[in-house]
Amino acid sequence: MSSLIFNKFWKAAIVVIGNEILIGRVLDTNSYKIAKMLTMIGYDVTEIRKVRDDVEVIAKTIKELMLDNGVIITTGGLGPTYDDLTAEALAYAVGSPLCLKDDALEMVRERLEKMGLKLDDTRKKMAIIPCISVPIPNPVGVAPGIALFTPRTKIFSLPGVPKEMEAMMEKYVLPILEKENLMVRAEACERLEGVREADIAPMIAEFAKEHPEIYVKTHPGIENGKSFVKLCIMASAESKEEAERRAKSLLKNLLNRIAQSGAL
Ligand code: ATP
Repeated sequence: MSSLIFNKFWKAAIVVIGNEILIGRVLDTNSYKIAKMLTMIGYDVTEIRKVRDDVEVIAKTIKELMLDNGVIITTGGLGPTYDDLTAEALAYAVGSPLCLKDDALEMVRERLEKMGLKLDDTRKKMAIIPCISVPIPNPVGVAPGIALFTPRTKIFSLPGVPKEMEAMMEKYVLPILEKENLMVRAEACERLEGVREADIAPMIAEFAKEHPEIYVKTHPGIENGKSFVKLCIMASAESKEEAERRAKSLLKNLLNRIAQSGAL
Protein backbone atom coordinates (compact mmCIF):
# COMPACT_ATOMS: atom_id res chain seq x y z
CA MET A 1 0.00 0.00 0.00
CA SER A 2 1.46 3.38 -0.97
CA SER A 3 0.56 7.03 -0.61
CA LEU A 4 -2.60 8.14 -2.41
CA ILE A 5 -1.04 11.52 -3.22
CA PHE A 6 2.13 12.11 -5.22
CA ASN A 7 3.54 15.64 -5.65
CA LYS A 8 0.22 17.23 -4.62
CA PHE A 9 -1.78 15.15 -7.13
CA TRP A 10 -4.30 12.51 -6.06
CA LYS A 11 -3.69 9.21 -7.81
CA ALA A 12 -6.52 7.86 -9.96
CA ALA A 13 -7.11 4.70 -12.00
CA ILE A 14 -9.55 3.80 -14.77
CA VAL A 15 -11.09 0.38 -15.40
CA VAL A 16 -12.74 -0.30 -18.76
CA ILE A 17 -15.07 -3.27 -18.51
CA GLY A 18 -16.39 -5.32 -21.42
CA ASN A 19 -15.66 -8.33 -23.61
CA GLU A 20 -16.54 -6.20 -26.65
CA ILE A 21 -13.43 -4.11 -25.98
CA LEU A 22 -11.14 -7.12 -25.58
CA ILE A 23 -12.35 -8.89 -28.74
CA GLY A 24 -11.82 -5.73 -30.77
CA ARG A 25 -15.46 -5.07 -31.63
CA VAL A 26 -15.64 -1.71 -29.84
CA LEU A 27 -12.88 0.88 -29.73
CA ASP A 28 -12.36 2.10 -26.18
CA THR A 29 -12.77 5.85 -26.33
CA ASN A 30 -14.02 6.20 -22.76
CA SER A 31 -10.67 5.79 -21.04
CA TYR A 32 -8.80 8.53 -22.89
CA LYS A 33 -11.66 10.97 -22.34
CA ILE A 34 -11.77 10.19 -18.62
CA ALA A 35 -7.96 10.34 -18.40
CA LYS A 36 -7.98 13.81 -19.99
CA MET A 37 -10.74 15.08 -17.67
CA LEU A 38 -8.98 13.76 -14.54
CA THR A 39 -5.59 15.07 -15.62
CA MET A 40 -6.87 18.59 -16.27
CA ILE A 41 -8.60 18.87 -12.90
CA GLY A 42 -5.39 17.89 -11.13
CA TYR A 43 -5.37 14.10 -10.70
CA ASP A 44 -2.59 11.74 -11.81
CA VAL A 45 -3.91 8.76 -13.76
CA THR A 46 -1.60 5.94 -12.72
CA GLU A 47 -3.20 3.11 -14.71
CA ILE A 48 -5.88 2.24 -17.26
CA ARG A 49 -6.94 -1.40 -17.17
CA LYS A 50 -9.24 -3.21 -19.59
CA VAL A 51 -10.95 -6.31 -18.29
CA ARG A 52 -13.50 -8.85 -19.44
CA ASP A 53 -17.04 -9.32 -18.12
CA ASP A 54 -16.12 -11.57 -15.20
CA VAL A 55 -17.06 -10.82 -11.59
CA GLU A 56 -13.84 -12.18 -10.11
CA VAL A 57 -11.58 -10.42 -12.60
CA ILE A 58 -13.37 -7.08 -12.16
CA ALA A 59 -13.40 -7.41 -8.35
CA LYS A 60 -9.71 -8.37 -8.21
CA THR A 61 -8.79 -5.42 -10.43
CA ILE A 62 -10.73 -2.95 -8.26
CA LYS A 63 -9.21 -4.39 -5.08
CA GLU A 64 -5.69 -4.07 -6.44
CA LEU A 65 -6.21 -0.52 -7.66
CA MET A 66 -7.74 0.51 -4.32
CA LEU A 67 -4.37 -0.07 -2.66
CA ASP A 68 -2.71 2.78 -4.54
CA ASN A 69 -5.42 5.12 -5.79
CA GLY A 70 -7.68 7.72 -4.20
CA VAL A 71 -10.07 7.56 -7.13
CA ILE A 72 -11.21 4.72 -9.40
CA ILE A 73 -13.53 5.26 -12.35
CA THR A 74 -15.02 2.22 -14.08
CA THR A 75 -17.06 2.22 -17.28
CA GLY A 76 -19.33 -0.46 -18.70
CA GLY A 77 -21.33 -3.37 -17.38
CA LEU A 78 -24.19 -1.51 -15.69
CA GLY A 79 -27.00 -2.51 -18.05
CA PRO A 80 -29.80 -5.06 -17.65
CA THR A 81 -28.20 -8.00 -19.49
CA TYR A 82 -26.61 -11.15 -18.05
CA ASP A 83 -23.09 -9.94 -18.83
CA ASP A 84 -23.50 -6.61 -16.99
CA LEU A 85 -21.68 -7.52 -13.79
CA THR A 86 -20.12 -4.32 -12.48
CA ALA A 87 -22.45 -3.80 -9.49
CA GLU A 88 -21.94 -7.39 -8.34
CA ALA A 89 -18.16 -7.17 -8.77
CA LEU A 90 -17.99 -3.87 -6.92
CA ALA A 91 -19.96 -5.33 -4.01
CA TYR A 92 -17.62 -8.33 -3.96
CA ALA A 93 -14.51 -6.11 -4.07
CA VAL A 94 -15.50 -4.01 -1.05
CA GLY A 95 -17.30 -6.75 0.89
CA SER A 96 -20.77 -5.18 0.75
CA PRO A 97 -24.01 -7.01 0.14
CA LEU A 98 -26.20 -5.95 -2.80
CA CYS A 99 -29.45 -4.04 -2.20
CA LEU A 100 -32.38 -3.12 -4.36
CA LYS A 101 -32.23 0.59 -3.60
CA ASP A 102 -35.39 2.70 -3.65
CA ASP A 103 -33.67 5.82 -4.99
CA ALA A 104 -31.98 3.82 -7.76
CA LEU A 105 -35.30 2.15 -8.62
CA GLU A 106 -36.97 5.55 -8.82
CA MET A 107 -34.26 6.76 -11.22
CA VAL A 108 -34.76 3.72 -13.46
CA ARG A 109 -38.57 4.07 -13.36
CA GLU A 110 -38.42 7.78 -14.18
CA ARG A 111 -36.08 7.30 -17.15
CA LEU A 112 -38.15 4.39 -18.50
CA GLU A 113 -41.35 6.43 -18.19
CA LYS A 114 -39.80 9.23 -20.27
CA MET A 115 -39.07 6.64 -22.95
CA GLY A 116 -42.57 5.15 -22.70
CA LEU A 117 -41.23 1.90 -21.29
CA LYS A 118 -42.34 -0.19 -18.29
CA LEU A 119 -40.30 -1.30 -15.32
CA ASP A 120 -39.96 -5.11 -15.37
CA ASP A 121 -37.76 -7.56 -13.47
CA THR A 122 -34.99 -7.43 -16.10
CA ARG A 123 -34.77 -3.64 -15.82
CA LYS A 124 -35.07 -3.73 -12.01
CA LYS A 125 -31.60 -5.32 -12.03
CA MET A 126 -30.15 -1.86 -12.80
CA ALA A 127 -31.29 -0.67 -9.35
CA ILE A 128 -29.48 -3.46 -7.49
CA ILE A 129 -26.23 -1.93 -6.30
CA PRO A 130 -23.89 -2.37 -3.30
CA CYS A 131 -25.78 -1.48 -0.10
CA ILE A 132 -23.04 0.96 0.95
CA SER A 133 -23.17 2.87 -2.36
CA VAL A 134 -25.42 5.58 -3.79
CA PRO A 135 -26.85 5.70 -7.31
CA ILE A 136 -25.73 8.40 -9.77
CA PRO A 137 -28.54 9.81 -11.95
CA ASN A 138 -28.18 9.05 -15.66
CA PRO A 139 -29.49 12.05 -17.64
CA VAL A 140 -29.08 10.30 -21.01
CA GLY A 141 -29.80 6.57 -20.62
CA VAL A 142 -31.48 4.33 -18.07
CA ALA A 143 -28.82 2.60 -15.94
CA PRO A 144 -27.82 4.67 -12.90
CA GLY A 145 -24.14 4.94 -12.11
CA ILE A 146 -22.74 3.93 -8.72
CA ALA A 147 -20.75 6.03 -6.25
CA LEU A 148 -19.05 4.04 -3.50
CA PHE A 149 -16.67 5.70 -1.09
CA THR A 150 -14.31 3.73 1.16
CA PRO A 151 -12.07 5.47 3.72
CA ARG A 152 -9.22 5.50 1.14
CA THR A 153 -10.81 5.43 -2.28
CA LYS A 154 -13.75 7.02 -4.08
CA ILE A 155 -15.11 4.63 -6.70
CA PHE A 156 -17.44 5.78 -9.47
CA SER A 157 -18.97 3.21 -11.83
CA LEU A 158 -20.40 4.69 -15.00
CA PRO A 159 -22.15 3.14 -18.03
CA GLY A 160 -20.14 2.17 -21.13
CA VAL A 161 -22.20 4.26 -23.56
CA PRO A 162 -19.91 7.26 -24.20
CA LYS A 163 -22.65 9.94 -24.10
CA GLU A 164 -23.95 8.60 -20.78
CA MET A 165 -20.44 8.32 -19.30
CA GLU A 166 -19.54 11.88 -20.35
CA ALA A 167 -22.76 13.44 -19.03
CA MET A 168 -22.33 11.72 -15.67
CA MET A 169 -18.64 12.65 -15.40
CA GLU A 170 -19.46 16.30 -16.08
CA LYS A 171 -22.58 16.62 -13.95
CA TYR A 172 -21.73 14.45 -11.00
CA VAL A 173 -18.17 13.10 -10.77
CA LEU A 174 -16.03 16.12 -11.71
CA PRO A 175 -17.83 18.54 -9.34
CA ILE A 176 -17.10 16.15 -6.45
CA LEU A 177 -13.47 15.60 -7.42
CA GLU A 178 -12.84 19.28 -8.14
CA LYS A 179 -13.64 20.08 -4.53
CA GLU A 180 -10.82 17.85 -3.32
CA ASN A 181 -8.01 18.47 -5.76
CA LEU A 182 -5.00 20.41 -4.61
CA MET A 183 -3.77 21.49 -8.05
CA VAL A 184 -5.18 22.04 -11.54
CA ARG A 185 -3.49 21.81 -14.90
CA ALA A 186 -3.54 23.85 -18.11
CA GLU A 187 -1.99 23.28 -21.50
CA ALA A 188 -0.57 25.66 -24.12
CA CYS A 189 0.36 24.45 -27.61
CA GLU A 190 1.88 25.90 -30.77
CA ARG A 191 2.16 24.39 -34.25
CA LEU A 192 5.62 24.86 -35.76
CA GLU A 193 5.54 24.64 -39.55
CA GLY A 194 8.39 23.15 -41.54
CA VAL A 195 10.14 21.87 -38.43
CA ARG A 196 11.39 18.34 -37.84
CA GLU A 197 11.03 16.85 -34.37
CA ALA A 198 14.63 15.62 -34.25
CA ASP A 199 16.00 19.12 -34.94
CA ILE A 200 14.43 20.58 -31.81
CA ALA A 201 14.67 17.44 -29.64
CA PRO A 202 17.89 18.46 -27.78
CA MET A 203 16.38 21.88 -26.87
CA ILE A 204 13.17 20.26 -25.68
CA ALA A 205 15.11 17.76 -23.56
CA GLU A 206 17.16 20.54 -21.98
CA PHE A 207 14.06 22.64 -21.27
CA ALA A 208 12.27 19.64 -19.72
CA LYS A 209 15.28 19.02 -17.49
CA GLU A 210 15.29 22.64 -16.33
CA HIS A 211 11.54 22.48 -15.56
CA PRO A 212 10.76 19.08 -14.01
CA GLU A 213 7.41 20.41 -12.78
CA ILE A 214 5.97 20.65 -16.30
CA TYR A 215 5.22 18.19 -19.11
CA VAL A 216 6.71 19.14 -22.49
CA LYS A 217 5.70 17.08 -25.50
CA THR A 218 6.21 17.27 -29.24
CA HIS A 219 3.74 15.67 -31.65
CA PRO A 220 5.17 15.40 -35.18
CA GLY A 221 3.03 15.25 -38.32
CA ILE A 222 3.06 15.69 -42.08
CA GLU A 223 0.46 17.68 -44.03
CA ASN A 224 0.53 18.10 -47.81
CA GLY A 225 4.07 16.73 -47.84
CA LYS A 226 5.32 19.30 -45.31
CA SER A 227 6.45 18.39 -41.83
CA PHE A 228 5.23 20.18 -38.74
CA VAL A 229 5.53 19.73 -35.00
CA LYS A 230 2.86 20.51 -32.43
CA LEU A 231 4.62 21.60 -29.29
CA CYS A 232 2.66 21.46 -26.02
CA ILE A 233 3.45 22.40 -22.45
CA MET A 234 1.27 21.27 -19.56
CA ALA A 235 1.74 23.22 -16.34
CA SER A 236 0.06 23.03 -12.95
CA ALA A 237 -0.79 25.49 -10.18
CA GLU A 238 -3.29 25.98 -7.39
CA SER A 239 -5.65 27.93 -9.68
CA LYS A 240 -6.68 27.50 -13.31
CA GLU A 241 -5.64 31.07 -14.14
CA GLU A 242 -2.15 30.61 -12.70
CA ALA A 243 -1.71 27.23 -14.46
CA GLU A 244 -2.72 28.85 -17.77
CA ARG A 245 -0.36 31.77 -17.20
CA ARG A 246 2.54 29.41 -16.46
CA ALA A 247 1.88 27.17 -19.47
CA LYS A 248 1.70 30.16 -21.84
CA SER A 249 4.74 31.91 -20.44
CA LEU A 250 6.90 28.77 -20.46
CA LEU A 251 5.81 27.99 -24.02
CA LYS A 252 6.83 31.52 -25.04
CA ASN A 253 10.26 31.05 -23.42
CA LEU A 254 10.78 27.76 -25.20
CA LEU A 255 9.67 29.19 -28.57
CA ASN A 256 12.12 32.07 -28.15
CA ARG A 257 14.89 29.63 -27.45
CA ILE A 258 14.01 27.55 -30.53
CA ALA A 259 13.83 30.72 -32.68
CA GLN A 260 17.23 31.90 -31.44
CA SER A 261 18.77 28.56 -32.37
CA GLY A 262 17.69 29.11 -35.98
CA ALA A 263 15.53 25.95 -36.07
CA LEU A 264 12.38 27.94 -36.99
P1 ATP B 1 -26.09 0.77 -20.68
O1 ATP B 1 -26.79 -0.07 -19.73
O2 ATP B 1 -26.48 2.21 -20.52
O3 ATP B 1 -26.23 0.27 -22.09
P2 ATP B 1 -23.62 -0.46 -19.93
O4 ATP B 1 -22.91 0.00 -18.74
O5 ATP B 1 -24.31 -1.76 -19.89
O6 ATP B 1 -24.56 0.75 -20.36
P3 ATP B 1 -22.04 -1.67 -21.93
O7 ATP B 1 -23.11 -2.69 -22.20
O8 ATP B 1 -20.79 -2.12 -21.33
O9 ATP B 1 -22.62 -0.46 -21.10
O10 ATP B 1 -21.74 -0.89 -23.27
C1 ATP B 1 -22.79 -0.36 -24.05
C2 ATP B 1 -22.23 0.16 -25.34
O11 ATP B 1 -21.40 1.30 -25.06
C3 ATP B 1 -21.29 -0.80 -26.07
O12 ATP B 1 -21.94 -1.67 -26.94
C4 ATP B 1 -20.38 0.13 -26.82
O13 ATP B 1 -20.99 0.54 -28.04
C5 ATP B 1 -20.28 1.32 -25.91
N1 ATP B 1 -19.06 1.22 -25.08
C6 ATP B 1 -18.85 0.42 -24.02
N2 ATP B 1 -17.64 0.61 -23.48
C7 ATP B 1 -17.03 1.55 -24.25
C8 ATP B 1 -15.75 2.20 -24.22
N3 ATP B 1 -14.84 1.89 -23.28
N4 ATP B 1 -15.47 3.11 -25.16
C9 ATP B 1 -16.39 3.41 -26.10
N5 ATP B 1 -17.62 2.86 -26.17
C10 ATP B 1 -17.95 1.95 -25.28
